Amino acid sequence: MAENVKVAVRVRPFNAREKSRNASIIIDMSGQTTEITDPENPKAEPRKFAFDHSYWSHDGFNEREDGYLEPAGAKYDDQQKVFEDLGKGVLDNAWKGYNCSLFAYGQTGSGKSYSMVGYGVNKGIVPLACEDLFRGISAKRESAVKDEEYQVTLSMLEIYNEQVRDLLNLKTLQKGGLKVRQHPTKGFYVESQSNWPVDSYDEINNKINEGTRNRTVASTNMNATSSRAHTIVAVSFVQKSSNEAGQNMTKTSVINLVDLAGSERAESTGATGDRLKEGSAINQSLSSLGNCIKALADISQGKKKVVVPFRDSVLTKLLQNALGGNSKTVMIAALSPADINYEETLSTLRFADRAKAIKTSAIVNESPTDKLIRELREENQRLMDMLKSGGGGASLEMGGGGQGKSGYSEDEVAEMKRALEEQVRQNAQELEDMKKSWAEKMQEGQQQTMAGMAQENKEHEEMKTTPHFWNLNEDPALTRMIIHFCRAGESKIGNRKADPAPEILLNGLSIQKEHAVITNNNNTVKIRPQVSAKVMVNGQEIKSETTLHHNDRVMFGSNLLFAFHHPQELEKQVKEGIKIETPTYDSAQEEIAQKSGLMKDIGGADGKSKEDLLLQEDLIQLLPMINEANAMSEELDKKVIFEIALVSSQARGVQDGKTEVMVKMRNMENENEWMFSRNDFINRKYLMQEMYANYMQGDADWDVPKERDPFWEPADTETLIGTVHVYLQSLGYMIELQENLAIADYKGVEQGHLTVEVQPCSEKWDNIEEDYFVDNPAELVGKKIYFKLKIPFARGLPQRFVQSFCRYKFYLEDKDVQTQVVSGTINPDFGHEKKYQLDVTKQLIEYIANSPLVIEIWGMQKGDSSPSKASTNNKNNKNNKTKALMKREKTIVNSPTTVTVSKDEKIKEEEEKYKSASEVNMYKKKAEKEEAKIHKIQEFLDSAKASGQTTIQISDIEKMLSLESNGATVGTTQKNNTNNKNDRGATKTSKACIIQ
Ligand code: ADP
Ligand code: MG
Repeated sequence: MAENVKVAVRVRPFNAREKSRNASIIIDMSGQTTEITDPENPKAEPRKFAFDHSYWSHDGFNEREDGYLEPAGAKYDDQQKVFEDLGKGVLDNAWKGYNCSLFAYGQTGSGKSYSMVGYGVNKGIVPLACEDLFRGISAKRESAVKDEEYQVTLSMLEIYNEQVRDLLNLKTLQKGGLKVRQHPTKGFYVESQSNWPVDSYDEINNKINEGTRNRTVASTNMNATSSRAHTIVAVSFVQKSSNEAGQNMTKTSVINLVDLAGSERAESTGATGDRLKEGSAINQSLSSLGNCIKALADISQGKKKVVVPFRDSVLTKLLQNALGGNSKTVMIAALSPADINYEETLSTLRFADRAKAIKTSAIVNESPTDKLIRELREENQRLMDMLKSGGGGASLEMGGGGQGKSGYSEDEVAEMKRALEEQVRQNAQELEDMKKSWAEKMQEGQQQTMAGMAQENKEHEEMKTTPHFWNLNEDPALTRMIIHFCRAGESKIGNRKADPAPEILLNGLSIQKEHAVITNNNNTVKIRPQVSAKVMVNGQEIKSETTLHHNDRVMFGSNLLFAFHHPQELEKQVKEGIKIETPTYDSAQEEIAQKSGLMKDIGGADGKSKEDLLLQEDLIQLLPMINEANAMSEELDKKVIFEIALVSSQARGVQDGKTEVMVKMRNMENENEWMFSRNDFINRKYLMQEMYANYMQGDADWDVPKERDPFWEPADTETLIGTVHVYLQSLGYMIELQENLAIADYKGVEQGHLTVEVQPCSEKWDNIEEDYFVDNPAELVGKKIYFKLKIPFARGLPQRFVQSFCRYKFYLEDKDVQTQVVSGTINPDFGHEKKYQLDVTKQLIEYIANSPLVIEIWGMQKGDSSPSKASTNNKNNKNNKTKALMKREKTIVNSPTTVTVSKDEKIKEEEEKYKSASEVNMYKKKAEKEEAKIHKIQEFLDSAKASGQTTIQISDIEKMLSLESNGATVGTTQKNNTNNKNDRGATKTSKACIIQ
């Protein structure tokens, strides 16, 4: 019978950073309803959603001595409660022989892993369910009659960037990952995925730990972003027993436990303007999951002719059953309570809301064992026959969808044959398994598991007495997964090329063959980096031997971050009652950012505004990525270097916006530069990781054509050279303006000069004459003004630009005005002139008086001469040019990750200077004009005197002062308005008469 997917939502507590920022809460729950409030619009009606369960885990809890978070009141829902509701139900169904699936959905850091796996004593659904399952099995076994058997096997997969990896068998770590194939009846499966028999909670726990550890190692080796991976733990539960008729029955259930990748799609590929935005497959699985769920929800609402695109991604292929077929499915959507995550949280709620409409039809998977064996045999015979008859492609549906009738290429036929063979193999294996007793099966897999458990126990013992490193990962679920001991004597640290193998083997960005040496002399542990090897202790690069202490943070290379654990020191500290603060990934990254001097530039350590705190968060997130991007550029010989740039709104030509973190990519050979937004850079970084992973896997084709290369950008991409701000007060007095302005880049550094002119005109577009001006800009309101805005030329632009143009928007213009593009010179003559004819309003006068006209100067850079691909495609590239270039950079600036900051205050200061300078200029002009007038009158007087006149006509003076006398005029919007002239005449007349 079809039934709906069960959907639960759960909201987590604030994390440390949210607390320090005083984040406000946007989620409320009561009963089954969940409400969300838009923090920008707190008075608006909250949006309401209803789910099967709404779990409140935000507050109202106590931390027990052992660390377990237990309810302090009725509202709080702890791990046990979530397990009782969701996990128990899943288990009941598994016992009955239904397939079950449990998904966790939500943005990174929202609590997916907390609910699924949990942390420490706060065990999640997966371990609690496994515990319960084995408790149940033990109980059954005690009273078991003959033929009754309970078998549990486990597999653990990761999907990253559309590649499938078997986390319990790293040998399969091959290029392109494992193949996903389709079985004619059972659906999609992963070829040669390992399946481990487990017989106790400890065994299953050990296996999951092993998988997680493998995940941690692989993701650091490949420099992958773990939050972008989906993890699927599949527990197969087989029950064998005899029915009343004495027939041997097999009941099977597969429990899929799926921890999905972070759902923050908009972050990485959403609103980016980058040309490479479509390039990455990193989000493909998640977006096709969204599409499938949408289609399934549509179908359940009665829409016809909807195709569910299961085939679009690896994840949806593997979850086809869980979503639309033979499975009882539960989804838990994890929610962040913090205001800044509003958009993401709302989208998670919408996703969950759609998911609850989906229907699945689970059946009890129970058959007589004989029948299953017979079916398998028959199936195998059929496949063998097909193979013999040459592949028989038409009857075989390929994973890629090759359902055509004929005309298969040779490759396709070969591939089909391979698929058939694989199915035969798989079936044979299954048959074998069916016949084997559980004891036999256990023996094979268990040996290895036991060895693993023994190893783990030994390690745990040693950790109590031997100083060691434990890893810090961006993902808390992957933290403390890797341990390296600093045993007595000397331990070398190096990568896998080192011979003999070092005691501490590290693989990761910028790790050298011989990287550092650790000495442990009577539990005094020291670290000595090799020349030019990167080692950072507590946020500072070290060059000489340094003693390590308990909880020190140590970074090897560009991204291998560890904390140091010193048992004896810890003991002493505990005795002395010293407060012990265990480092976290975030605190360690923040420390690195602080020590780099970066944080000073934004509000400093104290007195942070909310905006500063958000900026710091961005920065702490981006800084390690920049380091990694640079290390990848170096290893892949890409000749570019990345830097963080804090760009103020002023520098971006936006008024009253926020300072933004951007990333500058610079080609160290030709000095070309490009600026990326945070999102564009993050997106590119995924592509870099993909490239790097291919390179690490020894793929000869790791390098891609320029067009898809994230380390490359066409030289002719329009780049902002800088801006000038033109103050227009003089226009309010109808005085011409001519300025030669320094072009400032976002750092405020001069990038050449731009000449700008504003020429007030008459109605007929003649220049207004020398001695004309308006006394008070307010007088212009209601009239029409005419003027020309000219940008004749720029001089001394940076050498790397071969083309340039200017762009601006005057007043209320809704479209950018652009000058012509001038090529082949750094001293471009734009010869730009635009006529403006405007009705003067108060608003315009205000604009002219206060707002600068921002002119942006854009350029296209010289083409790059380097070949499209890195000079050699081999790993042992001896002439890595980028290495040398980076080294040079390092000697110029202290660290390759320089941060360039543009501060609003600094720019404002400059602006103020400019503004007053142009004001002074304007007044000077005005004074000159007054002078010119007086001079004219003086001349008139003189000539009158010379000709013996003793009286002069007031009207003559009037004429000299009036508008018409100059041939210039300010048009009026009201026709026949002559008052103005008269007013002016009158006042001037009285002045003029004094001369007499
Ligand atoms: P995700 O897997 O979605 O990226 P995690 O489950 O790792 O997120 O959670 C991020 C952090 O928040 C972890 O440190 C975790 O301990 C904490 N956390 C998440 N959910 C809860 C919860 N319900 N109660 C307490 N802490 C939680
Ligand atoms: Mg997680």
